[in-house]
Amino acid sequence: MLIVMEKNTSKDTIQAAVTAIEKRGYTARPIPGGDRVSIGILHNKGSVDAAHFLGLEGVKEVISVTKPYKLVSREFKQENTRIKVGDAVFGDGSFPVIAGPCAVESETQVLSIAKSVKDAGAKLFRGGAFKPRTSPYSFQGLGKQGLKLLATVREETGLPVVTEVMDVENFSLVEDYADVVQIGTRNMQNFSLLRRAGKSSRPVVLKRGLSATLQEWLMAAEYIMEEGNNNIILCERGVRTFVRHSRNTLDLSVVPAAKKETHLPIIVDPSHAAGVRNQVIPLACASAALGADGIMIEVHNHPEEALSDGAQSLYPDQFIAVMKKINAIHAIVRE
Ligand code: PEP
Ligand code: MN
Repeated sequence: MLIVMEKNTSKDTIQAAVTAIEKRGYTARPIPGGDRVSIGILHNKGSVDAAHFLGLEGVKEVISVTKPYKLVSREFKQENTRIKVGDAVFGDGSFPVIAGPCAVESETQVLSIAKSVKDAGAKLFRGGAFKPRTSPYSFQGLGKQGLKLLATVREETGLPVVTEVMDVENFSLVEDYADVVQIGTRNMQNFSLLRRAGKSSRPVVLKRGLSATLQEWLMAAEYIMEEGNNNIILCERGVRTFVRHSRNTLDLSVVPAAKKETHLPIIVDPSHAAGVRNQVIPLACASAALGADGIMIEVHNHPEEALSDGAQSLYPDQFIAVMKKINAIHAIVRE
């Protein structure tokens, strides 16, 4: 249930409403909006009687929420959530680009890639230090040493860094180094990890599970938000289908569908969807045309020598070319 307060209600009146809700044994979560505050009622078992709250001072209306997710839903919050990281804002109609290698491999590698993607207009750098690999024999990432190299990238280029956290055990370590923590596809329903991310002060990129429905994905985001972290960026990265011509199938239609259901920003990762670099460029262009809130793209200075995902990593020159196309497309579609 959502309690919508009158415009410009004082802090004291909002607090009084929160206290009244909590006295009935519910959790009250104020949600600031453009010109008014709403209060979400959480942890109710069964329906809540609207009559209890309609008479409270400052209450404009009481709306029952029909979705299984609450905090992430548009019913709870109409305005888009905007998440600022460095120079980038996700969710304000702009199209920030996150770029970098699949995995952090060496200082020379990350600095070379970071400089070229920054020059081309990327606003954040990506690179995995803890890599979730299908095979236990594949390169697993440099771990803490990789995080340190990401810190070097930030110092040298000023770019904020996004990196994956794979488990609760390493969460504190990763959040010490990362500006944005990423929860990968394989962990989308790792509920203890989601709860830990909810306690973090870092924004979270939450990738869609390999075969997750939009509803399952939003429920995963709800876990994070329920713990108090509102800064969640959804990332569509392709889902598993029957096709063999690409690694996964980029579900472009989930972008408008998600925008209808949630106020959270949604970006697209064409690299993991495509699996091969020649498809990454058109899919990146499509993502810009679609009105997504940004993109995450893999770039490598020597893709043929990459320790992971070389086949889908763009050469720096290709990245420059795709940035030009993306900017031109975004300029047309931007509202
Ligand atoms: C990644 O971004 O490095 C990654 C492993 O992606 P995903 O979780 O989408 O497979
Ligand atoms: Mn990768």
